[in-house]
Amino acid sequence: MGPLRNAYLDALGIDRWVSRNAPAEVAAMPEISPAQVSPAVSRLPTPAPAPAPFVPLPPSGDWSELRERVAACTACDLCKTRTQTVFGVGNTRAEWLIIGEAPGAEEDRQGEPFVGRAGQLLNAMLLAIGLPRETVFIANILKCRPPANRDPKPEEVSRCLPFLSNQIALLKPKIILAVGRIAAQNLLATDAPLARLRGKLHTFGEAATPLVITYHPAYLLRTPSDKRKAWEDLKFARAAHARVTAGGNAPGNG
Ligand code: SF4
Repeated sequence: MGPLRNAYLDALGIDRWVSRNAPAEVAAMPEISPAQVSPAVSRLPTPAPAPAPFVPLPPSGDWSELRERVAACTACDLCKTRTQTVFGVGNTRAEWLIIGEAPGAEEDRQGEPFVGRAGQLLNAMLLAIGLPRETVFIANILKCRPPANRDPKPEEVSRCLPFLSNQIALLKPKIILAVGRIAAQNLLATDAPLARLRGKLHTFGEAATPLVITYHPAYLLRTPSDKRKAWEDLKFARAAHARVTAGGNAPGNG
């Protein structure tokens, strides 16, 4: 069987059958000349080379450099549809870090997380526990907007999370407040529903930073009846922060 014929059968996904008497049969088979091969087959694309494995840069020790890295990032396909990256905003010496999911349409336009109605509600939630927006740092799991506000894909999260980890390493927050299911599940590496993650004190990373989970303000805008539960979460987070800054242990679960 000539190599050209083999290639043809392989291209069509047809198993090659070789008889025990193959040498004699093969000798009797007519050879296929290149002119006999359909142009469609001869145009079959050669397989693309495997993409180089993604290797994240070592963490940066500098906010400006990290911001530049994020702005230039093309590590996932979201770079093709974003207007701009949304690095995060706030006080780089803040004790509170608020983490959401990903930029929405307005955030993509303005380059800042939590603007628009959900942002206004987040500001009100923070102010209710004595935290003006400018005193905290606010970031997202993803730095670029997923089209049509779809959920982030696992690969996008894995490519982008090193940036958030770098931000956490630079900020060294006393407490993290994760808002919404996507942020909570990715920070805790779990698929447990948000209802099971609320009302508990978790920790994040090697520094075991206290981590509290609550609802995303966009969800609360759609479901105002859960604002009362969110208020319980905020009070719980405030108590955890007070305990940590007083040098004691954070409050127990519940
Ligand atoms: S979402 Fe994150 S990993 Fe993907 S391109 Fe944007 S900054 Fe890079």
